[in-house]
Amino acid sequence: MFSKTGIRFVVCLMVFVLALTTAYSFTGRNICGKCRWIGTPDATVCADCQNPMNQCLKCMTLNRVDADYCAKCAMPLAEMRVLSSIDPSVRTELKLGESLRAQAELDIKRLEYLLHTDPDNAEKYMYDLGMRHQQINFYSRESAIWLDFLSKFPESSKQNEVKVFASESLRKWSYLMYSQGRYSKAVELLNESVRLNPDNKEARRWLAISSKAARKGDRVIEVPEAKAIAVPERTAVEVPEAKAVVAPETQAVEEPATADAVETKGANY
Ligand SMILES: [Zn+2]
Ligand SMILES: [Zn+2]
Repeated sequence: MFSKTGIRFVVCLMVFVLALTTAYSFTGRNICGKCRWIGTPDATVCADCQNPMNQCLKCMTLNRVDADYCAKCAMPLAEMRVLSSIDPSVRTELKLGESLRAQAELDIKRLEYLLHTDPDNAEKYMYDLGMRHQQINFYSRESAIWLDFLSKFPESSKQNEVKVFASESLRKWSYLMYSQGRYSKAVELLNESVRLNPDNKEARRWLAISSKAARKGDRVIEVPEAKAIAVPERTAVEVPEAKAVVAPETQAVEEPATADAVETKGANY
């Protein structure tokens, strides 16, 4: 027998794969999931059985078949089309699409879409986008958004608040770099962190620690490409396999881990 977690994993995987394959194609989207009626791109409900063709599960708006984002709340509809094809009781039972992570990812897509379609309110969307990344502990992306915000909206009333956020996300990101032996990168991030918020004592403390480590040299070779995959040095046997940019074992730093350092555990993509 499969466990509930097992079933949930398989269904989530199905939803993900289906969403990927349906997101960029119109094929099949105009076919009613219940009775196979074939609709036109502007249809919102099936003419035969009244089944919604492209309903937003967040605000329940009945969208046109050809819509990629909800006309009312701008949520992305690709995943919802797949989710709505799954029996509602199964959906509820498995809490599909309800995790904080899943919700945040949908909201991030919504905000990125609105940034393009409604540039007049870009300041608000970019702020929300930063907060969403903060919620899911995606520090590198969060930092980039805050830095972008600071340069794009120098007159914003949120400048000081965003500087504090940016300083914090850079500090947390630097822990990941430190834990991977990329000390000079950690120093670079912490310098920026302290510049943005000179009162960030924890960043100052870690700047001293990282600088000391960086003087002895990084344990990994810097890859120039953007993906920045950490490559262990041949002789550095103690370097754990660098699987991704953001190592889940962040708490495994050599210095005493702080509460914040522990926070970053398994928190990233
Ligand atoms: Zn139908
Ligand atoms: Zn909606």
